[in-house]
Amino acid sequence: MNVPTVTLNSGREIPQLGFGVFLVPADEAEKAVTEALEVGYRHIDTAAIYKNEEGVGAAIAKSGIPRDELFITTKLWNDRQAGDEPHAAIRESLDKLGLDHVDLYLTHWPTPEKDTYVNAWQKLIEIRDAGLSTSIGVSNHLPEHLDRLVKETGVVPAIDQIELHPAHQQADVTAWAEANGTKIESWGPLGQGKYPLFENPAVAGAADAHGKSPAQVVIRWHLQRGFVVFPKSVRRERMAQNFDVFDFELSADEVRAIDAIDPGDGSGRVGAHPLELN
Ligand code: NAD
Repeated sequence: MNVPTVTLNSGREIPQLGFGVFLVPADEAEKAVTEALEVGYRHIDTAAIYKNEEGVGAAIAKSGIPRDELFITTKLWNDRQAGDEPHAAIRESLDKLGLDHVDLYLTHWPTPEKDTYVNAWQKLIEIRDAGLSTSIGVSNHLPEHLDRLVKETGVVPAIDQIELHPAHQQADVTAWAEANGTKIESWGPLGQGKYPLFENPAVAGAADAHGKSPAQVVIRWHLQRGFVVFPKSVRRERMAQNFDVFDFELSADEVRAIDAIDPGDGSGRVGAHPLELN
């Protein structure tokens, strides 16, 4: 299956559907990523704080898949934004992954009280220029943080990876991204199972109409909205199901009905607020 790609401001292409490994324990990551690669995923989203980069790296090495067919993302954790720490952090991540570069390196949260996210971004620019990450971006950044990065460095993030699902669409961030050529990645794309998305009539109705599962409908909604998405499951049948989303299309009305799930007041958020995580 050829997964569609999205072109980043670096000129590089990112597979629009990938596999996320948040909360996959270190000793299960190798198996989970091996199975995901067998299913057909070529884009893996990990992070230093997930503490499973070694398992991801072991699965990549064992797979024998050529490096240029893979898209690997990792992230700089919040306590390493200051000074030259990001340089040490990327080298540690690369060591654990067994790679000489990643395809995308992200700062994980702005942690605004620390006020080190602009420094972190400057270091990511150096990391990109040194060839250690082909593209660079951020995660959980709001327009006020993004504006500051661009004003102080002149470099626009290729990606902002944010909590995004039908109940929490962050229209202010997606509008900023659209205006500035930044692509959006949806984390928690299925609401992490914490929001009753699958029972929602707009999702359940489309699932019935297309003979697909509610999870497949939600993944399809992300793809059709143009977001990059990497649902997580350690169950092989769900990995396969989540990858099997290219043989149907939601109608414009179905997409609009799912758009309308967002309560619009932020109450659909299932994770931390970027201004509160410090
Ligand atoms: P998700 O929305 O992908 O939900 C995962 C959960 O959904 C699974 O644990 C499982 O219980 C359920 N699920 C998966 N497939 C299913 C299916 N087919 N049917 C029914 N239930 C299903 O949440 P997530 O894992 O938090 O997000 C995906 C990825 O986003 C992560 O693995 C990670 O890579 C990334 N992420 C990033 C941040 C960040 O701050 N940047 C935060 C959280 C997650």
